[in-house]
Amino acid sequence: YSWWGGVQMGPPDPILGVSEAFKKDSNPKKMNLGVGAYRDDQGKPFVLSCVRKAEAIISAKQLDKEYLGIGGLAEFTKCCAQLALGNDNEVLKSGRSITVQTISGTGSLRIGGNFLSRFHAGPRDVYLPKPSWGNHTPIFRDAGMQLKAYRYYDPSTCGFDFKGALDDISKIPEQSVIMLHACAHNPTGVDPRPEQWKEISDLVKKRNLLVFFDMAYQGFASGDIDRDAWAVRYFIEQGHNILLSQSFAKNMGLYGERVGGFTVVCGDVDEAKRVESQLKILIRPIYSNPPMNGARIASTILSTPDLRSLWLEEVHGMANRIIKMREQLVAGLQKEGSTHNWQHVIDQIGMFCFTGLKPDQVERLTKEFSVYMTKDGRISMAGVTSGNVGYLAHGIHAVTK
Ligand code: PMP
Repeated sequence: YSWWGGVQMGPPDPILGVSEAFKKDSNPKKMNLGVGAYRDDQGKPFVLSCVRKAEAIISAKQLDKEYLGIGGLAEFTKCCAQLALGNDNEVLKSGRSITVQTISGTGSLRIGGNFLSRFHAGPRDVYLPKPSWGNHTPIFRDAGMQLKAYRYYDPSTCGFDFKGALDDISKIPEQSVIMLHACAHNPTGVDPRPEQWKEISDLVKKRNLLVFFDMAYQGFASGDIDRDAWAVRYFIEQGHNILLSQSFAKNMGLYGERVGGFTVVCGDVDEAKRVESQLKILIRPIYSNPPMNGARIASTILSTPDLRSLWLEEVHGMANRIIKMREQLVAGLQKEGSTHNWQHVIDQIGMFCFTGLKPDQVERLTKEFSVYMTKDGRISMAGVTSGNVGYLAHGIHAVTK
C-alpha cells in the first residue's frame, strides 16, 4: 500500500520551467531572459563589493550563532524600516510601527497574508493589479485570502491603464485589501507617475481600503533608493496605515540569503505592541525564528557609512546598466529596420520589460533563436548584455516584422 498514490502530478513552475528548458539547449548564443536575477555585463551572477566587505567584517568578529529572536535581528529591522520610510519618518519617531525580519520578500508577503487572514476585520479579498507577480496569488490564497483584481496594464499602449485602474478601484468594497507594487512593477515594468499615485492615494482613502505595498526593488527602478520609496512614504504621509513587504534579494543581490522585512504601520504605540505580539505568535510555529547571516550582511551595509555609500553606488550601477540595455535594445531594433514603436521598452522601469510579443512570437523566438522567456512576453533586462543585445534585437525583429 502506498500512502501517496492519489497525489497528482503538478505543473512545473512557469518561471523555473523556462530555466530548465534553457539548460538543455546547446546553442552557444542562447539567452535566459526568464528569471529575474541581475547579471553583470558579462552575463555572470553579480556579488556586490559592499556585500563581500560586510562579510569580511562579520567574519572577523567571530560572532556566535545563537538563535535570533522570533522577530529577527533588531539592528536589521531598524535599518530595514528606516530604509523604506526614511530616517526621520514620524511613524518611526513615534514608534507606531512594527517591523519583523522575514524570509525575503516572499516570506514577508506570506506572513502578511497570514496576519490578514487571522486579524483583518474587513472583507477577505486582496485586490491585485492585473497582471501581478505570479506568486502573489498562491501566497495569499494559501494564507486563506481570496484574490480579486483591478485593471493596471494597457496592452494597447504597453503602459499604465490609469483610467481603468481608477474605475476599478472606485468599485472595490470598503475595507478590502489592495496590493500596490511600490516601484518597478513586476511583470510589466510600468509604474504610476507621482501625480497618478496621488490620485490613487485619494481614491484608496475615500474607499477606506487597506494598502499592502510590495517593495521588492527599492533602488532598482531609478537607481535612487529614496526616489523608489516615494509612493510608500507619500501614502504614509497621507495617513494610510499601510502594510509593507521588503526584499533585499535584488537591491543587495542577496537572493539566496533570504533577507526581508514585514512592517505594519499602526494607529499608535500600544497598537504596534499588540500587533508585534501577534506576529510573533504567528511566526513561531512556522519557522520559529529567521536566519541570521543575510540580516547581518544587510544591517552591516546599512549602518556602516562607507559600505552604505558603496552600496548606493552599486545599486545605481545595476539600475543604470539595465536602463542602458533598454536603450541599446531599441537602437538595435531600429538598426534592424523595425518600424514598430518600441518606446515602451525605454519607458518601462526596473528589471523587467513587457515587450508586447504575442505567445506565437515568443515561441518562435525560443525555437529559432534560443531566447528563453515567459509566455506573456516578459523579458528580464538583467540578462541582456552589450555582447548579446544585438542578437536579441535581431531575433525580436525577425519574429515581429
Ligand atoms: N514581490 C515581487 C513583485 C517580486 O518580483 C519578488 C521577486 N521576484 C518578490 C516579491 C520576492 O522575492 P524574494 O522572496 O526572492 O525576496
